[in-house]
Amino acid sequence: MSQNVIGFHYTLKDKDGNTIDTSVGATPLLILEGTGHIIPGLEKEITSLNIGDKKQVHVTPADGYGEVISDLIITVKKTQFPEGTELKLGDQFQVNEDPHAPLFTVIEIKDEEVVVDGNHPMAGKDLFFDIEITEKREATAEELAHGHAHGEGGHQH
Ligand SMILES: [Zn+2]
Repeated sequence: MSQNVIGFHYTLKDKDGNTIDTSVGATPLLILEGTGHIIPGLEKEITSLNIGDKKQVHVTPADGYGEVISDLIITVKKTQFPEGTELKLGDQFQVNEDPHAPLFTVIEIKDEEVVVDGNHPMAGKDLFFDIEITEKREATAEELAHGHAHGEGGHQH
């Protein structure tokens, strides 16, 4: 089966209708189908659409960024941080040097301890996308070999 390159505009809203992120007014996102560059719940929907189609897509946590894993919410003693570290809410850090290690965010600061959360910020959330397809074409041999879409909104070498 051939793979398509799909371009689309998106607006992401939370369940209360607040806009979290949008590509409208900027370059549409360009993806190579089947490469997992976007969350599965969104990819599944857009691959069946054609240029000009608009669709509202509701993505559940299971098809999005996953459920919140309580084991990734950890309380650590302030003394475990390097001396002189000034912690603020929202600070993010990695626990080791592996670039794929989860990013932890400081979510609570107590007298002696700090609570950090290694879940994706969108984990556990229902996501609501407004999608408009702007481009759809067969991937070139070069794109297939590279595993990503080429061009504006995709990968530019
Ligand atoms: Zn490439």
